[in-house]
Amino acid sequence: MTARSTFLSRRMFLATGAATVLSAPALRAQGSARVVIVGGGAGGASAARMLAAHPGIKVTLVESNAIYTTCFFSNLYLGGLRDFDSLQYGYRGIAGAGVQVIHDRAVAVDRDRRLVVLAGGARLSYDRLVLSPGIDFVDGSVPGWTQQDAQRMPHAYRAGAQTQLLARLLHTMPQGGLFAMIAPPNPYRCPPGPYERVSMIAHFFKHRNPTAKILVLDPKPRFAKQALFLEGWQYHYPGMIERIGPDFGGADVQVHPASNEVIIDGQVQPVDLCNVIPAQKAGAIATLAGLTGGEGWAPVDGTNMASLMDPDIFVLGDSADQGEMPKSAYAANSQAKVAAEAILNQLIDTPAYEASYANTCWSLIAPGDAVRVGANYGVRDKRILASNSFISQPSESAAQRKATADQAEAWYGSITAEIFGESQG
Ligand SMILES: Cc1cc2nc3c(=O)[nH]c(=O)nc-3n(C[C@H](O)[C@H](O)[C@H](O)COP(=O)(O)OP(=O)(O)OC[C@H]3O[C@@H](n4cnc5c(N)ncnc54)[C@H](O)[C@@H]3O)c2cc1C
Repeated sequence: MTARSTFLSRRMFLATGAATVLSAPALRAQGSARVVIVGGGAGGASAARMLAAHPGIKVTLVESNAIYTTCFFSNLYLGGLRDFDSLQYGYRGIAGAGVQVIHDRAVAVDRDRRLVVLAGGARLSYDRLVLSPGIDFVDGSVPGWTQQDAQRMPHAYRAGAQTQLLARLLHTMPQGGLFAMIAPPNPYRCPPGPYERVSMIAHFFKHRNPTAKILVLDPKPRFAKQALFLEGWQYHYPGMIERIGPDFGGADVQVHPASNEVIIDGQVQPVDLCNVIPAQKAGAIATLAGLTGGEGWAPVDGTNMASLMDPDIFVLGDSADQGEMPKSAYAANSQAKVAAEAILNQLIDTPAYEASYANTCWSLIAPGDAVRVGANYGVRDKRILASNSFISQPSESAAQRKATADQAEAWYGSITAEIFGESQG
């Protein structure tokens, strides 16, 4: 029995026959090529607007939430540099672009019949399906912590109520208290994200709770932009932040949420607040669709972002196992462009383009002091590989760092406008 038939025998159960596969000319003649997109975040919403710009394509976006809160720049909210509202976007701009927006949860994909099943019972048929469902957490990756404990020890790694909860708990920490972060193993969403968060929380403490301490427990020997963060922490927040890597027990950590304790290499450490960022995997629908491999991510063909398990399904953003691009909003948006071109080429015969991608990740270390890392990417043997890269240097001038911070602000404004087609609100 093939993996696919195993998957089908476990799942869908509709009585009708398999869908007929139509060629691009046949679809064009019928004037009704259907693209369903699951996930209205950085990847999915970008793809929806790009595809809907073409007559002859009917685009349906399925998104659980009526409001999307960006993880990107959520650390600035924790640092007190942005309002929560400034991270939130609705779907008016996407509906206004001609996309049918359905707020419901996709619970199954019948790949043989090309149907997406929604929690509310609707069945959406597709010619091409795009999945950009973000991340889920790996159960048990931090012993002692389950998702039920996220009220006490928040992850704040899917933005929204969790981000607000972490902010509230930071505000109520006692003076001189201890904040611990359990950083995730690779690969995970936004490699510099935990360390930008440490910077922004340190900035918050510097002004509101200057004797507080931050303890980072890290299973990784190295982390993104490490030299830049360490230099910035020493400069802006001397003596406040301690990081324990795997050599000293950072990979042997468990938690007791009920008693607010972290156990490091067998030693019990009481804390005032703990931010648990668990190990991650593709959003659940990618696995339910039978598109993920052993590591929990969905392998794709870097030439077009199509699943290696099903060429009619495109997987974007954090869920995709694509090669060397980091899991970022910038990357998800870049991948959406490539996938949209490929889908248009397949469905309405637009010209084919060679895939190329770009990414830049900015991180704020303190107000007006930002660093960046990025690259352009090409494709070899279906894997996305960096073709050139750049990174901020230690000891750059304050003017350079300020210019980088200004770039980050400008990027946030332009990418959110591109994704959602409207300014925040
Ligand atoms: C703290 C932090 C800081 C970050 N900073 C940056 C940054 O500065 N720059 C940057 O580029 N990136 C940054 N990122 C990373 C960025 O947020 C993600 O990489 C990006 O959002 C991934 O896009 P996506 O489309 O894969 O997933 P998402 O944007 O998470 O979108 C997934 C959407 O799918 C929906 N969904 C999931 N499953 C279903 C389903 N079954 N049915 C219906 N809807 C579903 C979800 O509700 C969600 O809206 C940061 C992340 C974090 C956590």
